[in-house]
Amino acid sequence: MRRINLIKTSMAVVVLAVMVAGAIPLYKHRHFQIPIVAGPGVTRVAWLSDWCPALKGTMADTQVFFMEGKLPGGKALIMSNTHANEPAGLLMELIFLENAVVERGTLILIPEFNRSASSTTRPGDGYPLYFSVKTSWGAMKLRMGNRDAHPLDQWPDPDVYIHYPDKQLLSFIDIRNTNRTWPGRARGPLMERVTYAAMELMRKEKVDIALDLHGAETMFPVTNCIVAPEKSARIATMVSLYVKAREGFDNHVEPSPVGFRGLSHREIGDYSGTLPFLLEAPIPFLDQPTGPKTEQFILDGKDPLLLKLSKKNKLFVAYTAEGWPMDKRVGQHSSVSLEIINQYSKKNPVRAIQVLNVPRYKDLVANGVGFYLQDPAKAEPSRVYHN
Ligand SMILES: [Zn+2]
Repeated sequence: MRRINLIKTSMAVVVLAVMVAGAIPLYKHRHFQIPIVAGPGVTRVAWLSDWCPALKGTMADTQVFFMEGKLPGGKALIMSNTHANEPAGLLMELIFLENAVVERGTLILIPEFNRSASSTTRPGDGYPLYFSVKTSWGAMKLRMGNRDAHPLDQWPDPDVYIHYPDKQLLSFIDIRNTNRTWPGRARGPLMERVTYAAMELMRKEKVDIALDLHGAETMFPVTNCIVAPEKSARIATMVSLYVKAREGFDNHVEPSPVGFRGLSHREIGDYSGTLPFLLEAPIPFLDQPTGPKTEQFILDGKDPLLLKLSKKNKLFVAYTAEGWPMDKRVGQHSSVSLEIINQYSKKNPVRAIQVLNVPRYKDLVANGVGFYLQDPAKAEPSRVYHN
């Protein structure tokens, strides 16, 4: 009897030890904070809950950075990490926040739009919890998140997600996907509150254009493109032509489907006066099947299986042994974002927005992302935000 009890106790101790050892890195990951150096252009920092009090105090509340120019003009909102496992948009926003100077109009940046999704990982997919970008001052460590909000923040999931207000039936997991919960509700599930707050921000601040930065698989047809509803299509087409002719990269236009609800490029346009654009840069890391999901793969986008598939014409983008490096993906986001702002400003001179001192595609490909990131340890402490 004694022997059996001893075996049982030992087994319980081993199981507990494995659980604790497994939980500690996840706990640290959830509470990791990205340092954001507010550059010369940042004039004030708000919280998303300022536009939806029911978000306050939750893990989904996130910082909203304002960059207000001296001259009056229009307003552009840029969101990244709507899907927190598509990090090129986040890096582009950090570069804007740390370097941009706004001459005319206002830029509003939300670098970690789905803050909750950035605090979790994808179970069973073996994602690295972090990745680092090389800079002249050392490695900048960033967190790799997931597509959907953390279940600790919003749970349980329903069998089917009934979209509000259209009542379209969506996959159960989309109740935690902030690119399906637009336009949201002030007292809805947490992710609906996130999108509702952003809708309120756009309506109250009279935002002219909204950009939602993403990454998509190379095997998915809607990749390497700008998704735009009818009202944004003209500007998106001009931008696509411009970057192809002047900067030498492809970025085609995809129409936003009228019947597919909950997406930013659909609902923002339907529920506010803002023109929405969703930007997709290829991210081979998200493709299936690939080799191991390593930190290096997040950065260089190189994979031998994808290379084989590209030779069989199974991918929707050109793919070579060079992969799809992060510098190129961030560069595309930067040039396309700046050009959307530029094209909008040309058509609406009274609501123009003028942004200076931001690298474009060729600068980022030549110098790398890390070249434009500031060392938080050397910055004025009051200008460093942790999100
Ligand atoms: Zn996405």
